[in-house]
Order: sequence, then structure tokens, then C-alpha cells
Amino acid sequence: MNNILEVEGLNKYYKNFSLSNLSFTLPEGCIAGFIGINGAGKTTTIRTILGLSKKTSGSVKIFGKDIEHNEHELKNRIGVVFDEGFFYDELTMAEMKSIISPAYSGWSERDYRAYMERFCLDPRQKISTLSKGMRMKFALTLALSHGAELLIMDEPTSGLDPLIRSQFLDIMADYMKRGGKGVLFSTHIISDLDKIADMIILIHKGEILFEKEKDYLLDNYRLIKGDKRYIDESSRNLFLKLTATDFGFTGITHKIHEVKKNMKDILVERPTIEDIMLAYIGGGEDNNAVSSH
Ligand code: ATP
Repeated sequence: MNNILEVEGLNKYYKNFSLSNLSFTLPEGCIAGFIGINGAGKTTTIRTILGLSKKTSGSVKIFGKDIEHNEHELKNRIGVVFDEGFFYDELTMAEMKSIISPAYSGWSERDYRAYMERFCLDPRQKISTLSKGMRMKFALTLALSHGAELLIMDEPTSGLDPLIRSQFLDIMADYMKRGGKGVLFSTHIISDLDKIADMIILIHKGEILFEKEKDYLLDNYRLIKGDKRYIDESSRNLFLKLTATDFGFTGITHKIHEVKKNMKDILVERPTIEDIMLAYIGGGEDNNAVSSH
């Protein structure tokens, strides 16, 4: 299987923040969810991958090519959606489309009209009068109307209601069916990833904490609840994160068999991707929480 995107040892330094040695790959046919808390570095990573922010060092290959030397070709092959949507507010959507479409050799007027209709957008409406959800739908329409093989989106579902989000997920599933495509999108709505992501990439403080298949995460991690008497120095090491109270403990583990061997009468549940993310970054602890990685 070909890799659509390969990031290798990527560094980007700002005065108070750095992306440190990021490496991950997006294989063909894969939807990757890029997750992390506010300020983790998702937007900076996306901007650096696209060459909108200059990297300090490292390599980014899109379809095996460097964006700095193949900008025109690669921008034709990538659909981009940003949370803010960079549009001229005083124009109508039709006028904005006329400015953007000539930049793409693969522009399809048919696809554009089909998405506008699907999203119930009237091309004569002024951009300044669009709601947040409508702006996002318009940004998606533009990203999807030039035959892009890679979609890179920064929080495309933020501010969208559950119905539009569900339409978005359907559109992503349709998009992937055409084959040879890849999607990387950042989000805070982790439940969306449960539905469509194949892979999850977690970034924290500018570092990649993991890049794993979603099914691997869901199959190999468990949320354990049990009696506090089981918790001692050695059993703590079985958990990524442990929260203990006077009554009992809750912990996330990927050492399920060892936990079951050592602890009886425990409750074993499947964690959500969000539980696993919080366990990795050590968030959501109470005062008695004990963390061990
Ligand atoms: P959010 O989920 O809140 O959108 P994020 O994960 O996308 O967050 P970034 O927007 O990448 O995070 O920001 C990461 C850090 O980089 C922040 O501390 C931010 O202040 C810093 N940063 C971003 N752009 C610049 C810049 N142009 N100059 C200096 N620092 C910057």
C-alpha cells in the first residue's frame, strides 16, 4: 500500500512552542483523526505540512513529493479545509468560487453544483451572511470539487450540528469509496472518529504520543474499575493512568491479561478513544489520582 503522506522528523520552532521530531504516515485508503487538547500543535502541524508555515527541519512527502518543489502539482491534488475558512466576506459564494476554481486543473463544475445542492447552499448568498455551519459546508464543497486525492482538514466539524456532522461523515465515507484517497483531519469531537477514522494520531505539547489503528486501540485497551486494595506500587505499573478514591479505582490498561490475573471481582469495560487519549496525556485526574506511563 502506498503512503499518501509521510512526515519524518518534522521540527518547527516558535518562541514559546515547538513541534518536536514529528513522524507519522497516512497510507492510501486511510482516514486519520488528528487529536490533542487545545494548543497541542494540531493547526501548526497542518500548516507546516501544507507549507503555509515554514518548517525548521524534517521532511514532509505528499504522494512521495516535497511540497516546496512541487507546490502547483500537489495543491491540485489536496483539498484543504480550515476552521476559519479564508473567504472574502463581501463576495457571494458564486463569486468566491470563480476566484478559487481557476487555480485547480481538475475543477469539476458538476461536483461543485452537486455539493452545493446537497448542502442546500444558494450560490447567490453573500459569504458575510453565512452561518458557521454554512461556511464550513461551503469550504468542504470547494475542497471536494477539484478531484483532490488527499483531504487535510483542521477541525472541519467544529460548530456543526449533529445532523450536518453526520452528513459530513457520510460524505467522507463516499469520498473514500472512490479509492486511492486519504484524509487527515483534526477534531475535538472524538465521537466522530469512532464512526469513520481508521487511524488515530495523538499529539501533545508538540510531540506525537501515538499513531495507531483505531481498532487496535479499542481492542487492546480496557477501562478497569475495582477495589482500592488491589492498588500497590507494582499494580500501578499495569495502568496508563489510575484514579483512586476512598471507594475504589478506575484505570486504563493495555495489560488486560496481567490485570485479570492479579485482580478478581473487577469491572472490565471498553474505553472510548477519548478515555484512551486522556489516559495518555494524564488529564482528568482527581486529587487522589496516580499516573504511571
Ligand atoms: P486548538 O485545538 O486550540 O486549535 P492546536 O492543537 O491547533 O490548538 P496550535 O494552534 O497549533 O494548537 O498552537 C500550538 C501552539 O503554537 C500554541 O501555543 C500557539 O500559541 C503556538 N503558535 C501557533 N502559531 C504561532 C505563531 N505564528 N507564532 C508563535 N506561536 C504560535
